[in-house]
Amino acid sequence: MPYERKVIDIGAIQAQQDICSQIFDKVTADGRRPLAMVDTYGCQQNEADSEKLRGYLAMMGYGFTQDEFQADVIVVNTCAVREHAEMRVLGNVGALNHSKKARPGQIIAVCGCMVQQEHMAQKLKQSYPVVDLVFGPHELWRFPELLLQVMTKHKRVFATEKNDGVVAEGIPNKRDSGVKAWLSIMYGCNNFCSYCVVPYVRGRERSRRPEDVVAEAKELVAAGYKEITLLGQNVNSYGRDLGLDVDFSDLIRMINDIPGDFLIRFMTSHPKDATEKLFKTMAECEKCAHQLHLPVQAGNDRILKVMNRGYTSEKYLAQVALARKYMPDLVLTTDIIVGFPNESEEEFEDTIKLVEQVRYDAMFTFIYSKRVGTPAAAMPDPYTREDKQRHFDRLTEVANRISGEKHKEYEGKTLRVLVDGETGRDEYNLSSRTNGGRLVHLKGDKALIGRFVDVKITASNTWALYGEVVK
Ligand code: SAH
Ligand code: SF4
Repeated sequence: MPYERKVIDIGAIQAQQDICSQIFDKVTADGRRPLAMVDTYGCQQNEADSEKLRGYLAMMGYGFTQDEFQADVIVVNTCAVREHAEMRVLGNVGALNHSKKARPGQIIAVCGCMVQQEHMAQKLKQSYPVVDLVFGPHELWRFPELLLQVMTKHKRVFATEKNDGVVAEGIPNKRDSGVKAWLSIMYGCNNFCSYCVVPYVRGRERSRRPEDVVAEAKELVAAGYKEITLLGQNVNSYGRDLGLDVDFSDLIRMINDIPGDFLIRFMTSHPKDATEKLFKTMAECEKCAHQLHLPVQAGNDRILKVMNRGYTSEKYLAQVALARKYMPDLVLTTDIIVGFPNESEEEFEDTIKLVEQVRYDAMFTFIYSKRVGTPAAAMPDPYTREDKQRHFDRLTEVANRISGEKHKEYEGKTLRVLVDGETGRDEYNLSSRTNGGRLVHLKGDKALIGRFVDVKITASNTWALYGEVVK
């Protein structure tokens, strides 16, 4: 069946907000401020979703806590990308038995990608009676209604039907930081990389309208945010479903045109869809960071093909060269999967070769994790966990060495950074990011948080740079 773009009517979101008021009256009736805890696993999109859950919860009158024994409502926003994250979620949800015992009436909700998988929703239903509410990513817009059902009907609620996904505007947002903001520009994924569960749980690719994205960006700038990160599973295919003449590069220009001193970042870019137009736009837009997260996943062409990535290592390398031609100071990062089914020693060596050739500023490396229902899950794999771990360790060593070398090159240089928070340590009490997104630890007054300052880099290691504010 062809995909039909489903937009949630703004009136429906208003109705959810009305439900928030109803819940407010209910939970604040005794004059006490109720508390909620939102626990987030996984990617930036999930962080952004959790800020919407908090937005709704704040409207319902909840304050926030990190202590499950203090919380009246707990929402666990889950990830399904790798088994490890799922195991952690299940372990932690199981342990909530204790807080629920200590606090009868505590409501426990589990949402996000993990529960959008049928087998996981079943598992929670059958083996985790502690959980009261389960809802998938497509139902987030009606969280107030679902929560009210649990509160009034006193029964467990499950909302995880198969769904291609929706676009909903107007959900309140309670952002974690006052300096950096996530801004989702699109949802879902159509790429179906053979190892990946995302397209099954996040639905089809759908873009927000450019005017909605720009309006939100304007609000953020007006509220004083200094860094806006545009989010999508593959931002390079932004707008394809809208039937408008606006692509991702055009969107960057529209946001760049908003007056103010702020930085634009984005993730993730799929290499098969990154264009020269994008690199040119990044170079020309003064607010766009020279930072590109371009996940390569593997350096061997047979593996890339079986992964269904849609490019060869040669094409990828040509793109990197082109991006660097436009932005010689580009900070480039990537994701790599080690131990894809039947990846041989020689094929793994091609990944090492590519990494040595590209020299990434930083890499996110993962051991392949079998995901239910994906094509890769049915592929034979003679290699052992030990083989994969050995490859993983070797790749990490190479990645760390290169990061350390790249960081060393910053020493002695003076750069403009955005101070974004406190580290909690005395010696270097502030954290900041360079234009390219590298972490710089500083010593300085916390009044600098939220400001761009010039910093001289004095030391570095694999993970970070260290510097002094230049007066
Ligand atoms: N949309 C983004 C990626 C989202 S998932 C993109 O395509 O770049 C983030 C990363 O998790 C992926 O880039 C991949 O490296 C890793 N990943 C996804 N599925 C995985 C799996 N089954 N096992 C191990 N790593 C996986
Ligand atoms: Fe997963 Fe591939 Fe989509 Fe990224 S592009 S979310 S790796 S299917």
